[in-house]
Amino acid sequence: AYNFSPGPAMLPESVLLEARGTLLEYGDAGASIVEISHRGPEFMDIAARAEADLRELLSIPADYAVLFLPGGATTQQALLPLNFAAPGQRADYVLTGHWGATATRQAAPYVDLNVAASGEADGYRSIPPVDAWQLSDDAAYVHVTANETIHGVEFRPATPGGHAFPDTGDVPLFADFSSSIASEPIDVSRFGAIYAGAQKNLGPVGIGVVIVRRDLLERAGQPRADIFDYRLQLAADSMLNTPPTWNWYVAGLTFRWMLDEGGVEEFARRSDAKAGLLYAAIDGSGGFYRNGVDVAARSRMNVPFFLPDPALDAAFLAGARDAGLVGLKGHRVTGGMRASIYNPMPLAGVQELVDYMREFQRRHG
Ligand code: PLP
Repeated sequence: AYNFSPGPAMLPESVLLEARGTLLEYGDAGASIVEISHRGPEFMDIAARAEADLRELLSIPADYAVLFLPGGATTQQALLPLNFAAPGQRADYVLTGHWGATATRQAAPYVDLNVAASGEADGYRSIPPVDAWQLSDDAAYVHVTANETIHGVEFRPATPGGHAFPDTGDVPLFADFSSSIASEPIDVSRFGAIYAGAQKNLGPVGIGVVIVRRDLLERAGQPRADIFDYRLQLAADSMLNTPPTWNWYVAGLTFRWMLDEGGVEEFARRSDAKAGLLYAAIDGSGGFYRNGVDVAARSRMNVPFFLPDPALDAAFLAGARDAGLVGLKGHRVTGGMRASIYNPMPLAGVQELVDYMREFQRRHG
């Protein structure tokens, strides 16, 4: 089956096969990958390789630190203000969908939260124009969501006519890249911090990455436990406590797979082809299928779409399942359908989905 699930999401078969082999024994360690010590030479090697490969994949400059942390993206949304904002300091948030709003709820206890712009009034169908953002001069940071996984709204700086990330001057820009990281080249140096839960483009759920400009780690932030302190995590190589070793290992295999496939330039090309095919099918359906997102802000990773009548949803999903297409049910806040087409999804999977959509429309249109 082709799995269009938003996350945990499809992983490359070669990664799964290699990982499966290590569940009984990792190399000649005499133990399974999930049994070896995180302090032993085998795992230290895995961790070092994962970081080196991620640095190569995303062209991460040397003045940026990379952390591998448990707790997913939501936890990082809470840790960013604790690490980088003084108590009660202003922080600017730009809301382009559900996850930006989630980020504000994690930060609200710790900062003077300013919603600098929000697409909520139009149902998160577009990105508010940058010149209308009400940014604060004294903000600790500006937070954006690079790709909104549920609403299907994405900043697309590499696409002609797509939304660029703003220039926030001396105020660092923080971005949640959970659902679009490694899908196209990005200029890391434009950001103060980038974070992502792994379970979409980077590997299995249970680990996330934080890429942060090293000078920001000098900020005092707020009183916090050691375990929530990025600076201490960096000093301990992201091993202040026992890390999620399995997840880290499989993420490392996924980084290597992406490099072997041609890196982020290649995935940008594939993503454009996959998303282009799917949006063309939706837009060319004579209104049977609908995606309401402003064309300039449409996500290449998550494509929400709606049938003419929600009463058809169950039949669409059941038929899709029979056709080997799973994970298409939309999020409960939006309803409808959503196809998540991250890096491991081949063009052939999207072609099968489009063929199924045409056939379904022929029978029900
Ligand atoms: N941010 C984005 C853009 C997401 O898509 C998700 C999960 O789907 C999250 C944050 C939350 O991630 P986690 O479940 O790892 O906390």
